Amino acid sequence: MTSTYVKIAPNVSIRRWVHSGGGMYRKNEYRAYPLPQEEYDFLQDLFLAREVNKEDELVQNLLHEGIVVECEKDDKSSEWSGPHLIPNLHFRTVMWAITGRCNYNCKHCFMAKDNNVNAHEWKVEDALSFIQDAEECGICDFVLTGGEPFLHPHIFTIISSIYQHGMHMSAINTNGALLTEKVLNELDKTMGKHEKPLLKISFDGIGHHDWLRGHKGAEKEVLDGIKRALKHGYSVRAQYCVHAKNVDALSETVDYLDKLGVQEIRIIRVAESVRWDQNKEDAGIYYTQYYDKMLKFTETFIEKPHSIHVSIWCMYDLYPQSKTYVLRMEQDPDIPDEKFYACGDCRMGFLLAANGEIFPCDAVSGTFEAKGMLFGNVLKTPLWKLLYESPVTKYACLKAYEMAKDIKECQSCEYWKRCRMGACTAVMFSAKLVEGKNEAPAACIYFKDGYSEKFKHVLQKWHQLD
Ligand code: SF4
Ligand code: SF4
Repeated sequence: MTSTYVKIAPNVSIRRWVHSGGGMYRKNEYRAYPLPQEEYDFLQDLFLAREVNKEDELVQNLLHEGIVVECEKDDKSSEWSGPHLIPNLHFRTVMWAITGRCNYNCKHCFMAKDNNVNAHEWKVEDALSFIQDAEECGICDFVLTGGEPFLHPHIFTIISSIYQHGMHMSAINTNGALLTEKVLNELDKTMGKHEKPLLKISFDGIGHHDWLRGHKGAEKEVLDGIKRALKHGYSVRAQYCVHAKNVDALSETVDYLDKLGVQEIRIIRVAESVRWDQNKEDAGIYYTQYYDKMLKFTETFIEKPHSIHVSIWCMYDLYPQSKTYVLRMEQDPDIPDEKFYACGDCRMGFLLAANGEIFPCDAVSGTFEAKGMLFGNVLKTPLWKLLYESPVTKYACLKAYEMAKDIKECQSCEYWKRCRMGACTAVMFSAKLVEGKNEAPAACIYFKDGYSEKFKHVLQKWHQLD
């Protein structure tokens, strides 16, 4: 026997969430990993260094994976490494609106400057205290959003604190207007050696950006911001909100962004919301028209070589470098109903609004708030309680079949196992709360009007176009 002493590696934290098995988290990574029971049992009382047999297979594995390290006899694992018992359900990501203020007047957004004169904003001391709570609740990852997050006077202090607590920031949602040299230099300095976050920047098409953003000159501002961000080494995802006026500019815009070096574009149909309903004029686009336009766009896109990854939200992703695609609307029919969540994203994360309210889904948080549907406020109730048992956890743990109980058509639908209402509750809630319809139109039209086959037919041509 070759004996040695081991402790938990300094960049690893051992955790166990209520109602889950044990897991581990590596510092500055965005997710937790489940651990086999045997490994968790070994690690859960490894606060003080323990003598082990180096030839033992379990020890060899843990050393090889970097989960434990060799150490001196009197050494111990750090306080951060744990092990920690987390008093709530496992949630990975917080999408955090650090400010409700914005410099743009977007026609579809309840946080637009002209709609939100008394906008809330997180006080820095409350923000730092929330970060501490998030760590104790086993959160791994942050996405900062707004309003416009770069308007927050303490954004860099907030980012630094996230990393000081061993957590990670995977992305920042921004309208791009404030991505000046000065701001990007400051962000570079704050990130230091940490992996740079993805910058998700709204851009609604060449010649069309100013209209939706309600801001003259927005197009130039954002394109300048995108170019600067790329120059500073950030990955950029352009977010294209599709409506009837800009849908035909999509192909030209994607080609242009691809040439600039933008890594990804996400295309999202502007969803029904109270504010969009008031402002859309003749720009509303229903699913059938939207799907027809996406078919056309896809046919054009696959004919030419590209590098940019295209994600048509909730429908499919196109990876032109490998000529592969992933269908997002088609669900795995082999997963039993009892295990199929109504929305996988809601199960893993939540939105924290600028006023401390938490919502299960960022896409419909504005509609929920406008309709008075509130789920809890972290400035009034401890975070762990809200993540243990509350309206948010109820919504997060909702299964698709439970959601479909009220919808007669779904009960006997031949597409049910492939559809499960599109595995997105946002579209359904938008239809329900804004239009009073109890249905999942995005998924229903996709399957029942034959778009599932039409899209597959177009995508399967891709490999034949060499
Ligand atoms: S969509 Fe973004 S940029 Fe537009 S008003 Fe809302 S927060 Fe501001
Ligand atoms: S296609 Fe429509 S009716 Fe059928 S399961 Fe999907 S949402 Fe329900």
